[in-house]
Amino acid sequence: MTERTFSIIKPDGVRRNLIGRIVGRFEEEGLKVVAAQMKRLGRYEAEGFYAIHKERPFFGELVESVTSGPVLLMVLEGENAILKNREIMGATNPADAAEGTIRKLYSQSIGENTVHGSDAPETAATEIAWFFAQSLVG
Ligand code: ATP
Ligand code: MG
Repeated sequence: MTERTFSIIKPDGVRRNLIGRIVGRFEEEGLKVVAAQMKRLGRYEAEGFYAIHKERPFFGELVESVTSGPVLLMVLEGENAILKNREIMGATNPADAAEGTIRKLYSQSIGENTVHGSDAPETAATEIAWFFAQSLVG
């Protein structure tokens, strides 16, 4: 089933010049970039995006980190795009991430884990609509 997911290359990835390698990896694995925008997130945007985590002890750190520099926001499309993107990213904590995943290859800590990817169809739809036009949800 062709579906769409939402991806962010977080500030630590942009800062370390990883955009090309990460987008290249998505493309090699059959995910197509159908929308993209580079920007620095404002506090309101970041807090809204991560609202599901607002009671978590790391929420402040999370918002600080994702607003610390520009990010690349993307809508990716492909066969089973949501799960495929999660597999390419690897586990949340890079210490637990499988060999060859983006987080294993490039991430330094759980707080700076280089990429975000939607975890389910509902979150993909909400996240795409939060940053892009509703019509891009697909
Ligand atoms: P993402 O939503 O960014 O794709 P995820 O779904 O793998 O990551 P979540 O549980 O949704 O993980 O957590 C969202 C983000 O919050 C993580 O990517 C990570 O940057 C940060 N985070 C999660 N747990 C911690 C923690 N214990 N300490 C610091 N930051 C954390
Ligand atoms: Mg998540």
